[in-house]
Amino acid sequence: MIADNQEAMDVDTDGASFSKRPPQRSTSVPFQPPRNLAVGYVYSSEMTAHFNPRGHQEAPERITRIWQAIVDEKYNMKMQWLPIRPVTKAEALLVHSQSLWDLVEAYQYMSEQQIVDSEVYYEQLSLYVMPGTTRAARLSCGGVIEACLAVARGRLRKVFAICRPPGHHAEPDQSMGFCFFNNVAVATRVVQQLTQLKRILILDWDVHHGNGTQRAFNDDPSVLYISLHRYEGGTFYPCGEFGGMTSCGEGSGLGFSVNIPWPEKGMGDADYIHAFQRIVMPIAMEFAPELVIISAGFDAALGDELGECKVSPAGYAHMTHMLSGLAGGRLVVALEGGYNLDATMRSALAVTKVILGEAPDPLPPMHASETATETVYLVAKEQSKYWKNIDTKSCEPRQEIESISFSIPEVLQAHRAHYLYKNYKMMQVPLLGFLQSPFAGQVICTPDLFENKTLVVLAHEFGNLRLELESAMTCDLNLERSYLLDFTKELMRWINEEGYALLDVNLYPKPFASVSQNTKRTSNKKNSERYDDTTALLTYLWDNYIHLSGAQKIVFIGHGPACQPLMNLIDARFNSITRNVKAVVQVVGYSKVPFTPKKDDFRSWYAKCSCVLLPANHHILQPEATYSKKKHGVLCPIEELQPVRIVMKGLPVIQAFLKAQLAMPLS
Ligand SMILES: [Zn+2]
Repeated sequence: MIADNQEAMDVDTDGASFSKRPPQRSTSVPFQPPRNLAVGYVYSSEMTAHFNPRGHQEAPERITRIWQAIVDEKYNMKMQWLPIRPVTKAEALLVHSQSLWDLVEAYQYMSEQQIVDSEVYYEQLSLYVMPGTTRAARLSCGGVIEACLAVARGRLRKVFAICRPPGHHAEPDQSMGFCFFNNVAVATRVVQQLTQLKRILILDWDVHHGNGTQRAFNDDPSVLYISLHRYEGGTFYPCGEFGGMTSCGEGSGLGFSVNIPWPEKGMGDADYIHAFQRIVMPIAMEFAPELVIISAGFDAALGDELGECKVSPAGYAHMTHMLSGLAGGRLVVALEGGYNLDATMRSALAVTKVILGEAPDPLPPMHASETATETVYLVAKEQSKYWKNIDTKSCEPRQEIESISFSIPEVLQAHRAHYLYKNYKMMQVPLLGFLQSPFAGQVICTPDLFENKTLVVLAHEFGNLRLELESAMTCDLNLERSYLLDFTKELMRWINEEGYALLDVNLYPKPFASVSQNTKRTSNKKNSERYDDTTALLTYLWDNYIHLSGAQKIVFIGHGPACQPLMNLIDARFNSITRNVKAVVQVVGYSKVPFTPKKDDFRSWYAKCSCVLLPANHHILQPEATYSKKKHGVLCPIEELQPVRIVMKGLPVIQAFLKAQLAMPLS
């Protein structure tokens, strides 16, 4: 147990003005910051005591620039200043080893020669050390502890710890990657020891994996560690598989480490927010933390040369905003990396605005990249083992689905083409122009199209199966128990036996085809306005194939939704059609009875040569119906409720009608 004795601690009461070294602009620090505010900050220029005289990315200006911007915006007037103090040995040992502590303590006594002699060794660890390192590292860690304790004890709602050197790479036994003590990890342990709060979420959006933090809690279910970082197959710093998506913790901590490892640079707002919406927030809500700590590195910011990603200040603001709603609003933002001074400053300012209660700046419409979507999907698959809130299906990348999926109409059409070729040697009719995209492969004819004197044109749609699935409780097809009734096969067999040529036209446009504006389903329009691409297809086929086929006797058979386009075709090519078309069979089923154009010559011709099949309970056949049935020729009620069986039951009627019509002498 560590002591909670604040008086005994080495408190630096002049947090903001202490300065050992230039270059900094002089900053006006309020002598007595306002009290009783909900939001606070931790900052001391004493943390600039650690610096590399030859220059280094992890430079003191990283915090002085943030502080200066906060003062310039007068945000410090709205935030309570928290005194900083160095981490105690007892606190540090909650995470770190005695030898690590001793080593960091020893830096303050290093001679110039010792610094020079050890330089290569420390460079291998991505570190530089000097006498000021000890003080700065202890203050940085102590600052984050004070920030977390203030929030955990309810003194403040949110605190920004503007501290350096950073901490998330520091492992229990090893300082590394610009980090000496793991500030956030130590603070987490101190909060768990000294307060009632036990369940803590650490969200690490630094562009690097926080290996030290994950290591500290890898087997501990009380701390949920979530990191978004560049990974690149384990080749990006800190390298290795520990930051991979299957590295999810161990022992009782299994599932409490969540890595979202980007496979490449260049990730931006849309990618991070996608990951937040699909992974971070669902898991965080299920975990229900009592305190949230952000390991807030800003090296994924646009302009950071180390991170090479594209997160904007507004992106950071939105992520902060999402996390702000957790844990009753108890949130600590602890600075980690961030090496472009401007980008770090602007991002930190955007985060500060949000914790002060301002809304994040709006983001433009955007969508996550293919890379991010794929990564999030794979992480979802992994994390769904541990978290009920993760809906893997909702994370499936669209592209991936599109590349492996076929719509049911496409499958049926492929089957139909194969069946017709195998049994009747029927071939696809090529289409041109805008008809190609929605209807390619859906018009099939017998080889004798241009020789046979009798031609049957069969127009239909594959629509029923889709509708029946949509009305079911579940859309899963149980393959062993599923079968498809193809009503037209019997009809086609008969056509073949009679020796007629056949043109089979599937009018169901491909689901993802780019179609002209008219192809949108027009069921809400009057029938007379239903002149769409399906009619255009039939008209094209009439002009280029049917009319030129040489057939002296032509039969039209329409089924379901294809009945109306057939009527539209007859209307559009009435004079040439009436010369050769001897019969029109409309298997209407439960579809609307097609509209008959109000033209005398049309109606008298249609009444002579049409046969309409309907289920017996169709509303126009009811005694009270006012519908005029005279315009149709034979109106044939079929005692059958299932639409697919109407053709089967009506087949003898169709055969008899067609034989009679075709037997009439040519006029
Ligand atoms: Zn970093």
